[in-house]
Amino acid sequence: MPGQPMAAPKCWKTTGREQTVTMTSAPVKPDVPPDVQPHVPYRDASCRLCPRLAAFLDDARARHPGWHNAPVNGFGPVDAPLAIVGLAPGMRGANRTGRPFTGDFAGDLLFKMLDEFGLSRGTYQSEADDGVELTGLRIINSVRCVPPQNKPTGAEINTCRQFLVQDLAAMTRLKAIITLGRIGHVSCLKALNLREKDYPFGHNAGHVLPNGVRLVASYHCSRYNTQTGRLTEDMFRDVFRKATAV
Ligand code: SF4
Repeated sequence: MPGQPMAAPKCWKTTGREQTVTMTSAPVKPDVPPDVQPHVPYRDASCRLCPRLAAFLDDARARHPGWHNAPVNGFGPVDAPLAIVGLAPGMRGANRTGRPFTGDFAGDLLFKMLDEFGLSRGTYQSEADDGVELTGLRIINSVRCVPPQNKPTGAEINTCRQFLVQDLAAMTRLKAIITLGRIGHVSCLKALNLREKDYPFGHNAGHVLPNGVRLVASYHCSRYNTQTGRLTEDMFRDVFRKATAV
Protein backbone atom coordinates (compact mmCIF):
# COMPACT_ATOMS: atom_id res chain seq x y z
CA MET A 1 0.00 0.00 0.00
CA PRO A 2 2.25 2.88 1.12
CA GLY A 3 4.46 4.14 -1.65
CA GLN A 4 2.67 2.14 -4.34
CA PRO A 5 0.42 3.78 -6.89
CA MET A 6 -3.18 2.64 -6.70
CA ALA A 7 -5.36 2.67 -9.78
CA ALA A 8 -8.79 4.18 -9.24
CA PRO A 9 -11.64 1.66 -9.57
CA LYS A 10 -14.15 2.39 -12.33
CA CYS A 11 -16.74 3.60 -9.80
CA TRP A 12 -14.49 6.53 -8.83
CA LYS A 13 -15.33 9.93 -10.23
CA THR A 14 -12.55 11.87 -11.87
CA THR A 15 -12.65 15.39 -13.21
CA GLY A 16 -10.17 14.82 -16.02
CA ARG A 17 -7.86 17.40 -14.46
CA GLU A 18 -5.90 14.98 -12.31
CA GLN A 19 -2.32 16.11 -11.95
CA THR A 20 0.22 16.43 -9.22
CA VAL A 21 -0.40 19.29 -6.83
CA THR A 22 1.34 20.17 -3.62
CA MET A 23 -0.58 20.27 -0.35
CA THR A 24 0.17 23.69 1.02
CA SER A 25 1.06 24.22 4.65
CA ALA A 26 0.27 27.48 6.39
CA PRO A 27 3.16 28.80 8.50
CA VAL A 28 1.21 28.85 11.75
CA LYS A 29 3.99 27.84 14.12
CA PRO A 30 7.15 27.18 12.16
CA ASP A 31 9.28 26.48 15.22
CA VAL A 32 9.10 22.88 16.36
CA PRO A 33 9.96 22.41 20.04
CA PRO A 34 12.61 19.74 20.66
CA ASP A 35 10.22 17.58 22.66
CA VAL A 36 7.85 17.17 19.72
CA GLN A 37 8.46 14.24 17.39
CA PRO A 38 9.84 15.68 14.14
CA HIS A 39 7.25 13.94 11.95
CA VAL A 40 4.29 15.30 13.91
CA PRO A 41 3.20 18.83 12.95
CA TYR A 42 3.50 21.24 15.85
CA ARG A 43 0.23 22.65 17.06
CA ASP A 44 -0.38 25.07 19.86
CA ALA A 45 -2.16 23.16 22.63
CA SER A 46 -3.33 26.44 24.17
CA CYS A 47 -4.61 27.96 20.94
CA ARG A 48 -7.28 30.64 21.52
CA LEU A 49 -7.71 31.84 17.95
CA CYS A 50 -11.48 31.21 18.20
CA PRO A 51 -12.70 33.34 21.13
CA ARG A 52 -16.09 31.60 21.41
CA LEU A 53 -14.53 28.13 21.53
CA ALA A 54 -11.78 29.24 23.92
CA ALA A 55 -14.41 30.63 26.30
CA PHE A 56 -16.45 27.44 25.95
CA LEU A 57 -13.38 25.42 26.93
CA ASP A 58 -12.70 27.73 29.90
CA ASP A 59 -16.22 26.98 31.10
CA ALA A 60 -15.83 23.24 30.50
CA ARG A 61 -12.55 23.29 32.45
CA ALA A 62 -14.32 24.84 35.43
CA ARG A 63 -17.18 22.34 35.28
CA HIS A 64 -15.14 19.22 34.48
CA PRO A 65 -11.60 19.76 35.79
CA GLY A 66 -10.62 16.13 35.13
CA TRP A 67 -11.39 16.27 31.42
CA HIS A 68 -9.05 17.08 28.54
CA ASN A 69 -10.82 20.40 27.76
CA ALA A 70 -8.30 21.58 25.15
CA PRO A 71 -7.68 21.34 21.41
CA VAL A 72 -7.59 17.69 20.34
CA ASN A 73 -4.77 16.53 18.10
CA GLY A 74 -4.98 13.88 15.41
CA PHE A 75 -4.58 10.23 16.31
CA GLY A 76 -2.65 7.63 14.36
CA PRO A 77 0.62 7.46 12.43
CA VAL A 78 1.35 10.38 10.09
CA ASP A 79 2.86 7.98 7.55
CA ALA A 80 -0.46 6.16 7.22
CA PRO A 81 -2.00 5.74 3.75
CA LEU A 82 -5.53 6.55 4.98
CA ALA A 83 -6.90 9.64 6.74
CA ILE A 84 -10.32 10.13 8.27
CA VAL A 85 -11.38 13.76 8.46
CA GLY A 86 -14.18 14.41 10.94
CA LEU A 87 -15.91 17.52 12.20
CA ALA A 88 -14.95 18.43 15.78
CA PRO A 89 -14.50 16.87 19.23
CA GLY A 90 -17.68 15.83 21.03
CA MET A 91 -18.13 17.25 24.53
CA ARG A 92 -18.19 13.89 26.32
CA GLY A 93 -16.10 12.16 23.67
CA ALA A 94 -12.81 13.58 22.45
CA ASN A 95 -13.10 16.68 24.63
CA ARG A 96 -13.28 14.45 27.70
CA THR A 97 -10.72 11.83 26.72
CA GLY A 98 -8.39 13.89 24.50
CA ARG A 99 -8.47 11.32 21.67
CA PRO A 100 -10.56 11.80 18.52
CA PHE A 101 -13.86 9.87 18.49
CA THR A 102 -13.09 8.26 21.83
CA GLY A 103 -15.78 8.05 24.48
CA ASP A 104 -18.98 8.78 22.66
CA PHE A 105 -21.49 7.04 20.42
CA ALA A 106 -19.81 8.07 17.16
CA GLY A 107 -16.60 6.46 18.36
CA ASP A 108 -18.30 3.15 19.14
CA LEU A 109 -19.28 2.72 15.48
CA LEU A 110 -16.06 4.15 14.05
CA PHE A 111 -13.73 2.00 16.15
CA LYS A 112 -15.87 -1.04 15.37
CA MET A 113 -15.20 -0.43 11.67
CA LEU A 114 -11.49 0.17 12.25
CA ASP A 115 -11.26 -3.17 14.05
CA GLU A 116 -13.26 -4.94 11.34
CA PHE A 117 -11.05 -3.60 8.54
CA GLY A 118 -7.78 -4.32 10.36
CA LEU A 119 -7.01 -0.64 10.82
CA SER A 120 -6.55 -0.85 14.60
CA ARG A 121 -4.95 -3.08 17.20
CA GLY A 122 -6.30 -3.65 20.70
CA THR A 123 -9.74 -3.55 22.25
CA TYR A 124 -11.51 -0.21 22.13
CA GLN A 125 -12.87 0.68 25.56
CA SER A 126 -13.95 4.31 25.12
CA GLU A 127 -10.93 5.71 26.96
CA ALA A 128 -7.70 7.21 25.65
CA ASP A 129 -5.64 4.79 27.74
CA ASP A 130 -7.34 1.64 26.42
CA GLY A 131 -4.18 0.77 24.49
CA VAL A 132 -5.79 0.89 21.05
CA GLU A 133 -3.32 1.68 18.26
CA LEU A 134 -4.23 2.71 14.75
CA THR A 135 -2.46 0.92 11.95
CA GLY A 136 -2.62 2.44 8.52
CA LEU A 137 -4.76 5.44 9.25
CA ARG A 138 -4.83 8.75 11.08
CA ILE A 139 -7.96 10.47 12.39
CA ILE A 140 -8.10 14.26 12.14
CA ASN A 141 -10.84 16.72 12.95
CA SER A 142 -11.64 19.83 10.92
CA VAL A 143 -12.02 21.82 14.13
CA ARG A 144 -9.80 20.94 17.11
CA CYS A 145 -11.90 22.46 19.93
CA VAL A 146 -15.33 21.26 21.04
CA PRO A 147 -18.04 23.63 19.78
CA PRO A 148 -21.34 24.33 21.56
CA GLN A 149 -24.08 21.99 20.26
CA ASN A 150 -21.48 20.33 18.03
CA LYS A 151 -21.82 23.28 15.65
CA PRO A 152 -18.72 25.28 14.81
CA THR A 153 -19.27 28.52 12.94
CA GLY A 154 -17.96 29.04 9.44
CA ALA A 155 -15.33 31.41 10.81
CA GLU A 156 -14.14 28.79 13.32
CA ILE A 157 -13.93 26.12 10.64
CA ASN A 158 -11.94 28.49 8.46
CA THR A 159 -9.63 29.52 11.30
CA CYS A 160 -8.82 25.96 12.35
CA ARG A 161 -8.22 24.81 8.77
CA GLN A 162 -4.58 25.84 9.06
CA PHE A 163 -4.07 22.86 11.38
CA LEU A 164 -5.93 20.53 9.02
CA VAL A 165 -3.67 21.75 6.21
CA GLN A 166 -0.63 20.93 8.33
CA ASP A 167 -1.94 17.51 9.24
CA LEU A 168 -2.73 16.55 5.66
CA ALA A 169 0.55 17.95 4.37
CA ALA A 170 2.45 15.84 6.89
CA MET A 171 0.84 12.66 5.56
CA THR A 172 3.27 12.21 2.70
CA ARG A 173 2.21 8.60 2.04
CA LEU A 174 -1.48 9.37 1.86
CA LYS A 175 -3.48 7.29 -0.62
CA ALA A 176 -7.08 7.74 0.51
CA ILE A 177 -9.25 10.00 2.66
CA ILE A 178 -12.65 9.37 4.23
CA THR A 179 -14.55 12.56 5.00
CA LEU A 180 -17.24 12.31 7.67
CA GLY A 181 -20.12 14.71 7.09
CA ARG A 182 -20.39 17.53 4.61
CA ILE A 183 -18.63 20.10 6.78
CA GLY A 184 -15.59 17.87 7.15
CA HIS A 185 -15.75 17.08 3.45
CA VAL A 186 -15.77 20.72 2.37
CA SER A 187 -13.11 21.75 4.87
CA CYS A 188 -10.88 18.90 3.72
CA LEU A 189 -11.30 19.96 0.09
CA LYS A 190 -10.52 23.58 0.97
CA ALA A 191 -7.43 22.44 2.87
CA LEU A 192 -6.28 20.86 -0.38
CA ASN A 193 -7.17 23.97 -2.41
CA LEU A 194 -10.10 22.15 -4.06
CA ARG A 195 -13.77 23.02 -4.46
CA GLU A 196 -16.88 21.07 -3.54
CA LYS A 197 -18.45 21.70 -6.93
CA ASP A 198 -15.73 19.52 -8.47
CA TYR A 199 -15.92 16.84 -5.75
CA PRO A 200 -19.51 16.92 -4.45
CA PHE A 201 -20.50 15.45 -1.12
CA GLY A 202 -22.72 12.38 -1.11
CA HIS A 203 -22.72 9.26 0.96
CA ASN A 204 -20.15 6.78 -0.39
CA ALA A 205 -19.29 9.13 -3.25
CA GLY A 206 -15.76 8.40 -4.41
CA HIS A 207 -13.48 10.93 -6.08
CA VAL A 208 -9.94 10.95 -7.33
CA LEU A 209 -8.17 14.15 -6.31
CA PRO A 210 -5.62 15.92 -8.51
CA ASN A 211 -2.75 14.49 -6.45
CA GLY A 212 -4.02 10.95 -7.06
CA VAL A 213 -5.40 10.56 -3.54
CA ARG A 214 -8.81 8.88 -3.49
CA LEU A 215 -11.52 10.46 -1.38
CA VAL A 216 -14.71 8.80 -0.12
CA ALA A 217 -17.38 10.93 1.46
CA SER A 218 -19.62 9.52 4.18
CA TYR A 219 -22.49 10.63 6.32
CA HIS A 220 -21.12 11.36 9.77
CA CYS A 221 -21.34 8.44 12.19
CA SER A 222 -23.10 10.60 14.79
CA ARG A 223 -25.73 9.23 17.14
CA TYR A 224 -28.38 11.30 15.35
CA ASN A 225 -27.53 9.88 11.91
CA THR A 226 -27.39 6.29 13.08
CA GLN A 227 -30.49 6.46 15.26
CA THR A 228 -32.55 8.05 12.49
CA GLY A 229 -31.36 5.44 10.00
CA ARG A 230 -29.64 8.00 7.80
CA LEU A 231 -26.46 5.99 8.27
CA THR A 232 -26.63 2.26 8.86
CA GLU A 233 -23.73 0.05 9.83
CA ASP A 234 -23.76 -1.52 6.37
CA MET A 235 -23.69 1.89 4.70
CA PHE A 236 -20.67 2.82 6.81
CA ARG A 237 -19.02 -0.50 6.04
CA ASP A 238 -19.39 0.22 2.30
CA VAL A 239 -17.41 3.43 2.76
CA PHE A 240 -14.51 1.61 4.37
CA ARG A 241 -14.69 -1.10 1.73
CA LYS A 242 -14.34 1.53 -1.00
CA ALA A 243 -11.62 3.53 0.78
CA THR A 244 -9.45 0.51 1.49
CA ALA A 245 -9.88 -1.14 -1.93
CA VAL A 246 -6.59 -1.35 -3.79
S1 SF4 B 1 -10.77 25.51 16.95
FE1 SF4 B 1 -8.67 25.43 16.14
S2 SF4 B 1 -8.12 27.56 15.60
FE2 SF4 B 1 -9.96 27.62 16.93
S3 SF4 B 1 -9.13 27.91 19.02
FE3 SF4 B 1 -9.38 25.67 18.70
S4 SF4 B 1 -7.38 24.96 17.93
FE4 SF4 B 1 -7.42 27.20 17.73
